[in-house]
Amino acid sequence: MNTMSLCCVSCGANYPATLRYACDACGGILEVDRGAETGEAWAAGLVSPAVTLGEGWTPLLQARPGSLASGGGMLWFKDETRNPSGSFKDRLVSAALTTALAFGSKGLVCASSGNAGASAAAYAARAGIPAVILVPERTPTEKMAQIAAYGALLVKVEGHYSNSYAMALAVAQETGFVNVTTTFINPYGTDALRLVGHELHAQLGDSAPDWVVVPTGSGPLVKGVVQGFADKGGRLPKILAVQAEGCAPIVRAFEDNAAAVSAWGEPKTIASGISDPLIGYERDGTYTLDLVRRTGGKAVAVTDDQIRSAMRALAAGNGIFAEPTGASSLAAALKLIESGEIAAGERVVCMVTGHGFKDFGIYRQMPVHEIRVEAGAPASVITQALAGMGHSGGND
Ligand SMILES: [Zn+2]
Repeated sequence: MNTMSLCCVSCGANYPATLRYACDACGGILEVDRGAETGEAWAAGLVSPAVTLGEGWTPLLQARPGSLASGGGMLWFKDETRNPSGSFKDRLVSAALTTALAFGSKGLVCASSGNAGASAAAYAARAGIPAVILVPERTPTEKMAQIAAYGALLVKVEGHYSNSYAMALAVAQETGFVNVTTTFINPYGTDALRLVGHELHAQLGDSAPDWVVVPTGSGPLVKGVVQGFADKGGRLPKILAVQAEGCAPIVRAFEDNAAAVSAWGEPKTIASGISDPLIGYERDGTYTLDLVRRTGGKAVAVTDDQIRSAMRALAAGNGIFAEPTGASSLAAALKLIESGEIAAGERVVCMVTGHGFKDFGIYRQMPVHEIRVEAGAPASVITQALAGMGHSGGND
């Protein structure tokens, strides 16, 4: 850790590696600069965190042929639901907390739409330190139950995510606890996401896909994927940043060809994980937009209905149970395959960022195959039901 420093992505100012959340000179995003420590030595340093629950090295699963209305043959799912608390946030929190404990932190604070908060609460429990988790009051109940189960102080904040974000800044100041909010605020957390790029590179036989589709709030995962592939040299994948139509500040700036991202109003979408209006940290969105453009990629918005049908295609078609945000990547990939913007034969990786257990409400509204039978009912009622689903029964 000795060769490490923090560097401002806007003005280039350099700081010693301590707990620091923004550039003193310009307010810019800080990134970890590891100096000469790159490649395998760097990765080895990162994959042995002190506070771990076994995060990372998630499976890369190819879409089942015929399971998708269009495309499919060259489409993969990076199944981040398999992380310990059920989302990719475990990667950031493990690294951010490991670093913070080395700097002497006695507790953590996290503003979250749910997943980062659940992750922070889990890792705080693992480390034996207190956690203060601030979430928008309309966060899915399963996510709030998970946070509370890990023993954290759950704070429901009125209104959208940016209100929770602002309060976390104040609470970190007041308590001296580390702020592990998973925007670009904690450079050590973002830095750990490079491993996503490294894993994909290895899982695809030391190569880059044509596209990586990333559900995007403020965008640290975009940065991690780009940086991870940059570490490996060679071609960068195009990033397809996905937002929900009801909360799409980065997509709006992309489509308007704007230089900067401006904040969104009130978010309106079932995809809670990317329901981030960026109020007060618009520069995070601008930084992410620049990264997307640098890869020759795109930013695209999907509707809640497109997300619902992607959730069904993932669960019933591929055995992957994702929350709405986790399925938004597949929704976007299908949209661009249909429009021809993703060309036939291009290799596409969809990041499936969060588990379906985190938001049962949306699944409860979906049609399912379900029957109720009397005790002792003949088994033929089952073959009839199967026939109704288009499956033949019997020993033929
Ligand atoms: Zn700066």
